[in-house]
Amino acid sequence: MDGEASRRNEMLSTLKRRGIASAAVLEAMAEVPRELFVPAHLVELAYEDGALPIGDGQTISQPYIVALMTEAADLGHRSRVLEVGTGSGYSTAILSRLVGHVFSIERHDALAISARERLARGGYLDNVSISVGDGTLGLPEEAPFDAIIIAAAGPRVPEALRAQLAPGGRLVMPVGSASGPQQLNCIVREDDETYRTEVLAPVSFVPLIGAQGWRR
Ligand code: SAH
Repeated sequence: MDGEASRRNEMLSTLKRRGIASAAVLEAMAEVPRELFVPAHLVELAYEDGALPIGDGQTISQPYIVALMTEAADLGHRSRVLEVGTGSGYSTAILSRLVGHVFSIERHDALAISARERLARGGYLDNVSISVGDGTLGLPEEAPFDAIIIAAAGPRVPEALRAQLAPGGRLVMPVGSASGPQQLNCIVREDDETYRTEVLAPVSFVPLIGAQGWRR
């Protein structure tokens, strides 16, 4: 086994130990080479269970948090998923292994471009579309979504995203102050009018900046 494969195995053991139970999620985490999504000088750290800088003041999410959010979204292999905050494209690649189509929005042009390149190199673009824009407004033309995953923390769940969630769908998002304590929330749309919120874990994310997020 090469160094990367054994480090990836250690990462999987950590995920299981921390409570990730979905076989499909663990399999996707085992398949996607995280080293493809981290800057070259940090490749040695690709399988440490932590966030890493990717440029523009942004980070690639910690593997455990990616797994936790993905598991909470309760995805099916035909799901249409909206992701807000493409970042490195790592979580986008994980999602692409599990669902029908991933629509991912990133507000930083440069990050969207390099994420698209990495996803192309890994062969993940068949069922992924990346767009540049304000993800707090969602993608009304593609709605409704079976799941919405937001990889940046906002003051509250954006109304536009709530509205674009299909009945029965789930929205996973960190909510809290821009630099202080945040809680990972899972919102289940039970029917047209009823939303139920579950709090999953305390987390630390970069701010969600946009019309229905923080105003920078
Ligand atoms: N899931 C990513 C981590 C992303 S970090 C990964 O695995 O690498 C959060 C990302 O959200 C950053 O790239 C940031 O630029 C982006 N972001 C913040 N506010 C946004 C908004 N309103 N719309 C789209 N992207 C946003």
